[in-house]
Amino acid sequence: MKYVSTRGDAPVLDFSGALLTGMAIDGGLYVPDSWPSLTADQLARFRTSQYHEVAAEVIGLFVEGSAIEQTDLAQMTEAAYATFRHPEVVPTRQISEDEHLLELFWGPTLSFKDVAMQLLGRLFEHELGRTGRTLTIVAATSGDTGSAAIEACRDRAGIELVMLHPNGRVSEVQRRQMTTVLSPNIHNVGVDGTFDDCQDLVKAMFGDRPFRDEMRLGAVNSINWARVSAQVVYYVVSSVKLSDQYKAKVSYTVPTGNFGNILAANIARTMGAPIDRLVIAANSNDILPRTHESGEMAMDSVVATSSPAMDIQVSSNFERLLFELFERDGKALADAMRAFRSEGVMRLDSAQLVALQDGFGAGHATESEVNDTIAEVYEQCGTVIDPHTAVAVSVGRKNRAESGPMVYVASAHPAKFGDAVEAAIGIEPQLPPHLSDLLDRPEKCEVVDPDLGSMERYVRSVALPSAS
Ligand SMILES: *Cc1c(COP(=O)(O)O)cnc(C)c1O
Repeated sequence: MKYVSTRGDAPVLDFSGALLTGMAIDGGLYVPDSWPSLTADQLARFRTSQYHEVAAEVIGLFVEGSAIEQTDLAQMTEAAYATFRHPEVVPTRQISEDEHLLELFWGPTLSFKDVAMQLLGRLFEHELGRTGRTLTIVAATSGDTGSAAIEACRDRAGIELVMLHPNGRVSEVQRRQMTTVLSPNIHNVGVDGTFDDCQDLVKAMFGDRPFRDEMRLGAVNSINWARVSAQVVYYVVSSVKLSDQYKAKVSYTVPTGNFGNILAANIARTMGAPIDRLVIAANSNDILPRTHESGEMAMDSVVATSSPAMDIQVSSNFERLLFELFERDGKALADAMRAFRSEGVMRLDSAQLVALQDGFGAGHATESEVNDTIAEVYEQCGTVIDPHTAVAVSVGRKNRAESGPMVYVASAHPAKFGDAVEAAIGIEPQLPPHLSDLLDRPEKCEVVDPDLGSMERYVRSVALPSAS
């Protein structure tokens, strides 16, 4: 399988190349040159397979043609998913006759980011060891990505990880999940500024080509194709299981920020998993539902909500769907993205809008709807959900089609966003045992001035010498 850039002007790579490169040099995102299909035989077999076995087989389709051996991949998926605290890895929980939660938060840092990151860290180490290379990963986080990436990369050979977060603007639990990891290859940086300032610094470092090449910068955000490929697996597994139970296709409502998670659902459906409707669920930052309704993607300012992982205006992975809506014309998409960046608006033509509306439903939940939904689900079935999950339940219930089971993606453990949960139901959810002493552990964090020169000097001071 080969990977091409959504902007049509970057080298064609294999899976390993896309893994280590992150963003394409033309500013685009890597996607497979064609979509593989799952056979009826595979889908039938997956009903009784273990999660890590399905992962090896599904991700194996994307890895094909690279130097990663399928047996090595199978070992990596087995190790990655052994870190989850539930035997099914990503269990579903029934909350009414035909509604289920897909619980993606049983990994080490309590959000769905672990599902992809636990594999990504192992893939990096494997490929760096094979090629004798080193990688300096720089990334920005507003919360969940940071801890998941740190947990996945700690103590791995060949990797130094520099994680930027806005000083004083992440919750104490989120900060401590990052700063209490004392491994020598983990470098937390608190930036005096906003998440956007952090993101801009990372983009500027990637845009500095000599620096990018010299430091061998790598990416762990969801522009990295390997992450999306790992997320396809839980849609295959859960849809196969539930469609067998209901003898019907399964619909999903996905709490959406950067569009990585719901993109993976769409890929699973394209590959032949028994999936019916997909609903994009946004919080008050509703650029995607507005685009879905009018065909006009218009940037607005970001507002802070109780579901901060979705406080995003520009969803980077939406570009991978746009590539399909533009019928894989990279040049046309590159022009449209340039215009969007400079004018803040992009207009879909009528065929593109129809394709978007045929493929997806969309809606948003206000802060009071999120609060009410947490309370409603708790009253109905005693299940405590986090605010991101509540966005999905609220939007999904407003968008229910007539028939078939609906799955709401539960993207975080409620204890990660305990304040919002407590405000809704008066109960503070407890952290699981492996994190219960989090507030007593020592922290390690640097503060670096929010300018490119200072950041680049810092990254240079921690980067590993190149082996080549
Ligand atoms: C990252 C995140 C999201 C948004 O997922 P995308 O793939 O960016 O759309 C939703 N909920 C939680 C808890 C997250 O950490």
